[in-house]
Amino acid sequence: MTPDRDDDHGHSHYDTPASRRARSPLEVRAMALEAALVENGVVSTDAVDLFVDAMEHRFGPHHGARVVVKAWTDPEFKARLLADGTTAVAELGITGPEGNVRVVENKPGVHNMVVCTLCSCYPWPLLGLPPIWYKSFEYRSRAVAEPRTVLEEFGVELADETRIQVWDSSAEIRYFVLPERPAGTEGLTEDELVELIDRNAMIGTGLVASP
Ligand code: FE
Repeated sequence: MTPDRDDDHGHSHYDTPASRRARSPLEVRAMALEAALVENGVVSTDAVDLFVDAMEHRFGPHHGARVVVKAWTDPEFKARLLADGTTAVAELGITGPEGNVRVVENKPGVHNMVVCTLCSCYPWPLLGLPPIWYKSFEYRSRAVAEPRTVLEEFGVELADETRIQVWDSSAEIRYFVLPERPAGTEGLTEDELVELIDRNAMIGTGLVASP
């Protein structure tokens, strides 16, 4: 299997609109790496398929949003979530791979945002794979050096007196932001609430808007 042939096991992990144009250096590198690992017997194509499927379907921000809604609607769950995130999300059937989840709560006067200054540590089971910008040197450095400016660039305008807390995720601890429940959502069902919450709100680079 060469980097140019990605159909050896029936489908391509890289068969995206982008792959039908010129492939990016990252895609070519990923394909070459997979080919080398398979050829050398380090992983099987089945294992790679399983992993990609998990990342695309089993994990993702819909899980994080369920956790947020549960915390908004069940004060006892919220208390458990803030005390021990890993154990509390497991109650909802959301588990591993790797790392403990620590939940930090936005409230009036306090806004939290998450970064991994070293690389790209991220709560996969809750949010799926991190966006490209999360892994960029620019975000990893500027989120710490000038968080308020970075938030403004994401469209998040905070009051001057709001304190911004920046949390540095690591392989051991993966931070997750519990956003504030917006006003005007009292009558919504849990499914309707889930729809309001996007990935950035749980990284802290976004807010949950009123419907
Ligand atoms: Fe990291």
